[in-house]
Amino acid sequence: MSVALVTETLRSLHRIHRQLADLSDQLAAGPRTVAVRTKQVEAAETKKATAQDDVKKAKVAADQKQLQLKTAEAKIRDLEGKLNACKTNREYQTLTEQIAADTMASKVLEDEILEALERVDALKPTVPAAEAEVASTKKLLDEAKARVAAETGRLEGEVARVRAELETVERDLPDDVREKYARIVKQKGADGMAPLDGQSCGGCFQQITGNMVSELMLGKIVACRSCGRLLYVPESSRPA
Ligand SMILES: [Zn+2]
Repeated sequence: MSVALVTETLRSLHRIHRQLADLSDQLAAGPRTVAVRTKQVEAAETKKATAQDDVKKAKVAADQKQLQLKTAEAKIRDLEGKLNACKTNREYQTLTEQIAADTMASKVLEDEILEALERVDALKPTVPAAEAEVASTKKLLDEAKARVAAETGRLEGEVARVRAELETVERDLPDDVREKYARIVKQKGADGMAPLDGQSCGGCFQQITGNMVSELMLGKIVACRSCGRLLYVPESSRPA
C-alpha cells in the first residue's frame, strides 16, 4: 500500500466514525423526545386530577354550608314556635333576641353559600381546559412515538450501511496500523483520530514536532503524544 493511502484511509475512517457517532446521537435523541413528551402527558394528567379535585372540594364545601343553613333555619322556626309559649316578657325578649341573632347568622351563611357556589362555577371551566391539555399532550406524544419509530428504522438502516462501509475501508489499513487503530478506536471511538491542524493535533490542539509533521507528510502513522489520537493529513493540505 502506498504511503499516501494510509493517511487517506485514516481520513476516511475518521469521517465514517464521526458519521456513526452522529447517527448514534440521533438514535439516542428519539427516546429522549418520547420521555419528555411522556412527562408532559403525566403533568397534564396531574393538573386535570387537581382541577377535578378542586371542583369536588368546592362543591362539598358549598353543600356543607347549605346543610348548616337548613339546620339554622329549622332552629329559628323552632324558636319562633316557642314564642307563644313564653310566660314572661323577659323570656319573650330573650327569645326574640336569640331569633334575631340566629337570623343574622343565617344571612351571613347565605352570603357564604353564594360565594361557595360562585367558587364552584369559577373552578368548573378549569376541568375541560385541563382535559384539553391532556388530549393535546397525548397527541404530541403519539406523534413523537410514530416519528421516532420511523426515524429509528431509517437510522438503523443507515448505521448498517455505514458500518459495512467502515469494514470495507478498514480492510485497506496495513496490518501494523490496524492494531494501533483498533486499540485507539475501542478506547475513544471517533475521537481516536484527528486531522493535522497546521502544526498541531486537530483533536487536542497540542503542537507536535516538525519531525512528526514530516513523517505524516511521508504517509507514516503518527499518534499525538498528548492525546494519543492517530493523526492524518487533512484533504486541503494534501501534497499535490
Ligand atoms: Zn492530540
